[in-house]
Amino acid sequence: MAEQSVLVVEDTDEIRELVTTVLRRAGFDVREASSGAACLEEVRRDAPDLIVLDLGLPDADGTEVCRQIRAETQCYVLMLTARAEEVDLLIGLAVGADGYMAKPFSPRELVARVQAMLRFPRQVQVAQPAAQAAESVRRLAELEVDEESREVRVDGAVVDLTRTEFDLLAALASRPGRVLQRETLLREVWQTDWEGNLRLVEAHMSNLRRKLVAAGLNSPEIRTVRGVGYRLVAA
Ligand code: CA
Repeated sequence: MAEQSVLVVEDTDEIRELVTTVLRRAGFDVREASSGAACLEEVRRDAPDLIVLDLGLPDADGTEVCRQIRAETQCYVLMLTARAEEVDLLIGLAVGADGYMAKPFSPRELVARVQAMLRFPRQVQVAQPAAQAAESVRRLAELEVDEESREVRVDGAVVDLTRTEFDLLAALASRPGRVLQRETLLREVWQTDWEGNLRLVEAHMSNLRRKLVAAGLNSPEIRTVRGVGYRLVAA
């Protein structure tokens, strides 16, 4: 299996080198960039599986770089922020990062987070017998969730979702009608209960909903169970 690739975008040399070193040691194929422009150039040349993106870059706002990445690829984005308080602000802005870490962070925690995020594509690469592959498609009214190709279709048309949005929908679709707690989704989709940050679930869920509605999905719909979580029900 090919090594999974990570692009580390950070202008402070010591931090970039530290992150690069620990990720290489963990077995990732790591590339580096020290500006927003260099990041986008790398992404266009050969999109990585995951980008560790510093919020404070010399030439560009990290949130704008993140939006640009989102517009061009499906890769995971783990954003580094200078202060913990910035995380809530960024989630509110819906810049679309899949995870956040505030500086100073422990290198071991960063590696664990990257490994957790990349676990899903790793599973997809496992060859499945044909019979099992066929069962990987869930159909619920107008919605199809294909776990093998990681595609979502509404009335047969593919909906462009980020990996995190797909993972959220797949979690809901695997248990239609049942309420999934936000804590459960945080654990299943982000593979951790880091920071207990439930607003991240809410932000990605609202993006997912918006995209499904824009794609013309009437049924099933994602319903909010106030103060608890979400469920997928046929309208
Ligand atoms: Ca910086």
